[in-house]
Amino acid sequence: MSFDFRMPTEIISGENAVKNNAARFALGKKCLIVTGKNSAKASGALDDVTAVLDSLGIGYTQYNKIMENPLVSVCYEGGKVAYEFGAEFIVAIGGGSPLDAAKSIASYAANRELSPLDIYTAQLKPSLPIIAIPTTAGTGSEVNYYSVMTLDGKNVKKTFKSTYSYPKYAILDPKYTASLGLNYTVSTALDAFCHCVESYLSPRATEISRMFAVMGAQKLYAALAKMAEVKDDANVLENLKPYRYELLTGSCAGGITINTAGTGSNHPLGYNLTLYYGVPHGRACGVFMEEYFEYNSRVTEGKQLIENFCRELGDEPKTVAANIKKWSAVDVKLTDDEIELYLNNVSGAGNYANSPYVINRDEMKEIYVRLFK
Ligand code: NAP
Ligand code: ZN
Repeated sequence: MSFDFRMPTEIISGENAVKNNAARFALGKKCLIVTGKNSAKASGALDDVTAVLDSLGIGYTQYNKIMENPLVSVCYEGGKVAYEFGAEFIVAIGGGSPLDAAKSIASYAANRELSPLDIYTAQLKPSLPIIAIPTTAGTGSEVNYYSVMTLDGKNVKKTFKSTYSYPKYAILDPKYTASLGLNYTVSTALDAFCHCVESYLSPRATEISRMFAVMGAQKLYAALAKMAEVKDDANVLENLKPYRYELLTGSCAGGITINTAGTGSNHPLGYNLTLYYGVPHGRACGVFMEEYFEYNSRVTEGKQLIENFCRELGDEPKTVAANIKKWSAVDVKLTDDEIELYLNNVSGAGNYANSPYVINRDEMKEIYVRLFK
């Protein structure tokens, strides 16, 4: 038994948390703001941040080239921009893509001698400090050290992680997620739910990480059940408002729990659906939930953990898995050649070991065939 726990990020939450915590932005004279194309502005977070930086006399420039599933090359370029601008810290605003990218950018800026892929293996100097402001409620990137990037020209995701990558501050204000539409709101909630269940089953889990996993899963599962009734019409953003706080809190809890225990097989299996078919990350993970429960139930420990976890949600494992799959709503058909290629892409991932039952390549194939043939 052990309950080691590390969470170096300071979490600050609440309405107007950016403006109410202006003094925390005084981390240097110049700042790089890392964002995607539109969401930083659309969410209102960018205006709040620049107002705070202006009030403190801090110079800033925006690097807004972060696409979904960010490429290594784009993060590397961001590191160059940060360095040439003389940025002393980074403010990341967005979903998991800009938040993850910011961690690599912060490292590239501080380690200019590295070539792009060296970041995965080299001895690194400390990164620039990061303030992370999520505009989605899913990845929990604001409170962990993972930076998932896509290798250029390869359609393969590879996670960079360094103990220097924890954001210094995570600033959570649910209003920044209020502009996110139904599709991504549900998908990101499914991502966070997968973080909770996959980390709960992980052999690396501790009593404390499981406490966060349960807390997050309860909030997310309840919100997902209610959001299944929400129509994607003109009132959709208004109708989603009641769930934003619970989703953001649940997602943050998910980020904390995977920081200790990691994610399981749903994640690498899902990467192919995202990179080849554009299925949003959370849906691409959630679609595997029935198989994830089925394989892990083959061993006593896995069966027991799944039963315990679902008891906390007040539903039978069968119902939980079926609901998550239904809410994921993935409709993809794969050829034999695609399945072979996809297995090559992801069968070496480390995530599989994070489960009581470790699936092998033949079982990965069984899963793809069962779901997508
Ligand atoms: P995302 O890729 O960051 O963003 C998805 C889309 O949502 C983008 O088009 C984005 O627009 C838009 N968007 C974001 N916030 C919005 C808002 N408030 N209003 C309107 N549109 C908004 O989505 P994500 O699911 O949060 O992140 C997925 C990435 O995180 C993947 O690369 C995944 O591998 C990674 N991930 C990381 C961790 C971790 O622990 N670090 C965990 C799970 C997943 P813009 O392009 O304009 O920003
Ligand atoms: Zn995820």
